[in-house]
Amino acid sequence: MSEINETYALTDIGVNLTDSAFDPDRETVINEAAKVGVRRMLVTGTTATESEQAVELCQQYPGQLFCTAGVHPHYSKDFSAQVRSTLLALLKQPQVVAVGETGLDFNRNFSTPEQQIRAFEQQLELASETGLPLFLHERDAHKQQIEMLRQYRDVIHGGVAHCFTGTRKELYNYLDLDLYIGITGWICDERRGRELLNLVKEIPAERLLLETDAPYLLPRNLKPKPKSRRNLPAYLPHILQEVALARGCDADTLAQQTEVNGQRLFAFDQSCA
Ligand SMILES: [Zn+2]
Repeated sequence: MSEINETYALTDIGVNLTDSAFDPDRETVINEAAKVGVRRMLVTGTTATESEQAVELCQQYPGQLFCTAGVHPHYSKDFSAQVRSTLLALLKQPQVVAVGETGLDFNRNFSTPEQQIRAFEQQLELASETGLPLFLHERDAHKQQIEMLRQYRDVIHGGVAHCFTGTRKELYNYLDLDLYIGITGWICDERRGRELLNLVKEIPAERLLLETDAPYLLPRNLKPKPKSRRNLPAYLPHILQEVALARGCDADTLAQQTEVNGQRLFAFDQSCA
């Protein structure tokens, strides 16, 4: 599956383009992705400062780059009234199409669970105030995350469980809340990704989104194997093809479907005016 179809028109809905891993060649990375059909990217904001940087980067690529603004659970301890008002201002920028990444991560607890819950609550409120969808991260905190999402269900405007790697039960919990599911190159991992590879078939076509999470999560079955372990948005067509294979569907059809989904959730064209 190494052949790349240049006619794809894809959106990488999760790429950490402000990461220092891209400092040496950010422009090349963006251009190389565009060449293989990744025409749009959603840049992930993980702190107030990084979200500001993401907006500045998006301003240089109108219509091509969009971003989220939010505070990742790891950095929840820095969430303050000041951060909240910075985020609120950013969320009104035309390039910003989602609140996040936000959620709970009780895996390593870089911030305490209490700090994380507070920051998540604040961002659920921001999503409600601004009418923007949520870009959700979750690790080892599913029960609490779903409970909080349920509480806010009537006032939020959709969202995506980004980099979903959970169980069947967890998948259906998100789907029951009308959320979208973001699939990364995790499915290309012959050891860790097997369960997800099976589950991918069960995601309704109209709820599926694709992402690389670059520079993380380099797909393990790229051929030829890249020299660098750095993941790139240009590898999104590979993920598309792997997902299509797992679902037993045509890659072009899947590409079109995921584009319609991304547009429905993030309303890109509206915000680039
Ligand atoms: Zn994440």
